[in-house]
Amino acid sequence: MVLLKLPVNVFVLKSDKSHELDANISEQEMRDVLAQVNSIWQQAKIEYILSGFEAINAIGAEHFLSYRKTKYKGISYQKEMSLLTRDSCETQLYQQSEINVCVVGQIFNRSGGIFINFESPLVIWPLTSKSSQSLNAASLAHEIGHHLGLSHNYLGARYLMQGLGISTVKPEQQHLLLTQKEIDTARNQAEFYHIRKEYLL
Ligand SMILES: [Zn+2]
Repeated sequence: MVLLKLPVNVFVLKSDKSHELDANISEQEMRDVLAQVNSIWQQAKIEYILSGFEAINAIGAEHFLSYRKTKYKGISYQKEMSLLTRDSCETQLYQQSEINVCVVGQIFNRSGGIFINFESPLVIWPLTSKSSQSLNAASLAHEIGHHLGLSHNYLGARYLMQGLGISTVKPEQQHLLLTQKEIDTARNQAEFYHIRKEYLL
């Protein structure tokens, strides 16, 4: 297997209206997180390279905040909140052939991240969540898995793409597994984002 290097374009969301949207992470911290993501993805011979790191201002935080107060918190609420979070991350700076990640402060539900495949695919990753204090690299690795075409499996907690009931990957899980089929699928999809050798030189 040849090593595939994929560019990851990180946007750090800034908002003075919502502490949930507002994120604060340094470029070095982000590199450390990606190093942990890479240690999980090593088994697929896929490596993520930080190709961009930029702060962006949250758009439409008012809509986010007013919908946040909705009392009914069923499936439609979850969906709408995901889309509103995505809207807040809107920027012209997304790169089509890169994996775009929007870092937010927190996520409105218990998940460790969201992958939205609507218009342009986007990973939304929170610095903290209800089930982890901070910087849950395993969750980012999981969401990137969705980006590379993987669905949930029900093989248990040792697997990166397990989706049994909870959508959060525990941060202490450093040796999360991918199945051979998942590796094949992800590598196929990764070809689209693969940094060409000459580009790296
Ligand atoms: Zn998932």
